[in-house]
Amino acid sequence: MSEFTGSCHCGEISYTFKGEILRQINCHCKNCRKSSGGPYLANIFVSEGNLLIKGAPMEYQHLADSGNQMTKKFCGNCGAQMFSLGSGRPGIVSIRGGTIDDLEIIQPAINIFVSSKIPSTPLDESLATYDKMPS
Ligand SMILES: [Zn+2]
Ligand SMILES: [Zn+2]
Repeated sequence: MSEFTGSCHCGEISYTFKGEILRQINCHCKNCRKSSGGPYLANIFVSEGNLLIKGAPMEYQHLADSGNQMTKKFCGNCGAQMFSLGSGRPGIVSIRGGTIDDLEIIQPAINIFVSSKIPSTPLDESLATYDKMPS
């Protein structure tokens, strides 16, 4: 069981999580890079029901390469990306790792879409890597 809090940069949106973390994935795909502004994105996947959000994030939708409709939630004041939901996995939300307060929570298990990573981004050699999305 994990328990942690997080917030956007300005603090207008915050959240509390209590439950099991389902999966932690560092994603190097173009969508994650472009939406976060970072070299890759630490995705912390959890059940939506275990996440209590304070404030009202704005939403932005786009189609993933898989054809799934993705909804990204972000702070309308500071613009920080907070959460992502996909139509392919109802009820599952990805928390953007950089918004978590307790840094020890972030323990990625795998790196995915390394085929589109920024060449200079170092990879943790102890983690499994996948060129695309593992099946
Ligand atoms: Zn904010
Ligand atoms: Zn991605």
